[in-house]
Amino acid sequence: MNIILLGPPGAGKGTQASKLVADRGMVQLSTGDMLRAAVKAGTPIGLKAKAVMDAGELVSDEIVSGLIGEKLDSMAPSEGAIFDGYPRTEAQARSLDEILASRGRSLDHVIELEVDEDALVERITGRYTCANCGEGYHDSFKQPKVAGICDRCGSTEFKRRPDDNEETVRTRMAEYRAKTAPILPVYEARGLVQRVDGMADMDLVSAAIAKILDS
Ligand code: ADP
Ligand code: ADP
Ligand code: ZN
Repeated sequence: MNIILLGPPGAGKGTQASKLVADRGMVQLSTGDMLRAAVKAGTPIGLKAKAVMDAGELVSDEIVSGLIGEKLDSMAPSEGAIFDGYPRTEAQARSLDEILASRGRSLDHVIELEVDEDALVERITGRYTCANCGEGYHDSFKQPKVAGICDRCGSTEFKRRPDDNEETVRTRMAEYRAKTAPILPVYEARGLVQRVDGMADMDLVSAAIAKILDS
């Protein structure tokens, strides 16, 4: 099974991907996470990507498609892939077709998380993650069960992304509208797109996605 989770920043792609990883043993391929790891490690890709990410603009298609190909090569053929935050442009969508075909894979579903844009700024500015295991949280919508302690790993260290501020979010939403949303009709013509109400509670979103994957 190979699926794409598509939606603007803050739609819930990462939240739902990590649920699928836990429930189904699928592998999450998040280009955002890969790029942040490269920035942290100070690799040549990270050095190139940092300023672009801080501005909320898109990193080059070659870089992100390269990262996706490498990650897929590290996976067993039996492992399902969840593409989270990739593809984000029409060129990336074409690359993904080639990357999958050359590895004997194909796309099963493109799941669009439909969200109300006004809610996204609040989702993004309230977002934080566990610094140790990466579990996602939110100031209003998902606090740890015991304040200050990660539910998953018990760590007391949390972090926020430098690009999760209101100004950058506006740029990221504009990038989504201009460059990413046009991919949808292409997948729609192939009969791959299923829509889910991303404004519903996280568990309801997960249930709707599960229904699609099990259909
Ligand atoms: P994306 O990966 O699409 O940018 P995230 O999964 O990181 O989005 O979600 C953004 C923020 O919104 C996180 O803090 C997350 O906890 C929260 N969130 C995700 N899904 C929902 C939901 N259905 N309802 C309310 N908050 C949500
Ligand atoms: P979000 O979860 O809010 O949608 P991501 O973590 O996916 O954000 O991406 C953070 C940043 O990393 C983007 O604003 C962009 O600069 C860069 N990035 C991530 N994925 C891609 C991609 N597929 N193409 C180009 N840039 C990307
Ligand atoms: Zn943790």
